[in-house]
Amino acid sequence: MSKYGLSRRSDIGAKFKVSFEFFPPKTDEMEARLWDTVTRLEPLQPNFVSVTYGAGGSTRERTGRTIKRILTETSVQAAAHLTCIGASREEVDAVIQEFAALGIKRYVALRGDPASGVGKTYVPRPDGYQNGADLVAGLKAIADFDISVAAYPEKHPESPDFATDIEMLKRKVDNGATRAITQFFFDNDLYERYVERVRRAGIYIPIVPGIQPVHNFRQVANFASRAGAHVPEWLAERFDGLEDDPQTHALVASAVAAEQVLDLVERGVDDFHFYTMNRSDLVVAICHMIGIRAPASAQGSAAA
Ligand code: FAD
Repeated sequence: MSKYGLSRRSDIGAKFKVSFEFFPPKTDEMEARLWDTVTRLEPLQPNFVSVTYGAGGSTRERTGRTIKRILTETSVQAAAHLTCIGASREEVDAVIQEFAALGIKRYVALRGDPASGVGKTYVPRPDGYQNGADLVAGLKAIADFDISVAAYPEKHPESPDFATDIEMLKRKVDNGATRAITQFFFDNDLYERYVERVRRAGIYIPIVPGIQPVHNFRQVANFASRAGAHVPEWLAERFDGLEDDPQTHALVASAVAAEQVLDLVERGVDDFHFYTMNRSDLVVAICHMIGIRAPASAQGSAAA
C-alpha cells in the first residue's frame, strides 16, 4: 500500500474514479461533436463531468444549457465551472440562482484569468468576490453545493511561492471545498511533491490530477506557457516533426498519456480528471488501460 492509500499496479482493475471536463460548444457542429463524446464517455460511469465557464461570464448561457442537457439526457452528475473575475457579487449570485433553477448542484469554483491575460496584475473588483476562496464561501452561503477548486502543482503564476499558493488552497478548503483538481502537468514528480506539501499544510481533501491528453502538441505547449505549466524537453522531443502527421501524433499522444496515468497509478493515485477537449478517443483508451470500460451492453449499442 502506498502513502496515498492505494496499492500498486497489480491493482489495476480496482475501482478508479474518473471525471471528464468539457467546454461549451459554440456551433451546432461543435455541439454534435460534444454530444458524440458525452455519449461515448457516459458508459464509463464517471464520478462527474464538468463544463467550463468563460471568465467574465462569456459562456454563461452556453455553460448552463450544456449542463442542463447532460443532466436531462444522461445519468451523469454534472458540475458547472464558475468564475468571479470582472463581475459583482450580485451578478455572480444571479448566475448561481439561474444555474440552481437548472438543477445544478455541483461547482468548480474559480477566480478566472484577467482579461489582459494570465499572469497580468489581477485587481479584484471592490464589489466582487475577491478570489477563488471567497467564491467558495459565496456559493456555500447560497446552498450546500458540492464544490471543487483549482490547485497548481507548479504553483499559480501569480503566487510568489508555494507557501502563499497553498495558503490560498487552505482558505478554499476552510470555506467548504471538498475536492481540488490540478492544473495539468507532465512531470509526475512535481505532482507528488506538491501533494506532500499540501498534506504537510494540513489539507486532506483529494488533490485530483488533471490529465491533459496532447491532441495537438503546439496548442498544448502554448497553453502551458500561459498557465505556468512546464513542458519537459523530452515531451517536445516526442512530438517533434509530427505536425503534419496526425495519425502518428495521436499514437504518440496515447502512449504519453498512458505512461503518465500508469505511473500515477504506481504512485497510488486512484482518481483522475481528464481535460477532454470534447474528444473521447484518447480518454477512452487511457480509461481502458486502468480497467474503466463500458459494460458489454453499452459497447454493443455503440457498435450498432
Ligand atoms: P485563486 O485561487 O483565487 O488565485 C490563484 C493564485 O493567485 C493564488 O494562489 C494566490 O497566490 C494568487 N492571488 C489570488 N488573489 C490575489 C490577490 N488579490 N493578489 C495577489 N495574488 C492573488 N478559468 C476559466 O476562466 N474558466 C474555467 O472554467 C476554468 N476552469 C479551470 C479548471 C481547473 C481544474 C483549473 C486548474 C483552472 C481553471 N481555470 C478556468 C483557470 C483559472 O481560472 C485560473 O488559473 C485563474 O488564474 C486562477 O483561478 P483560481 O480559482 O485558482 O484563483
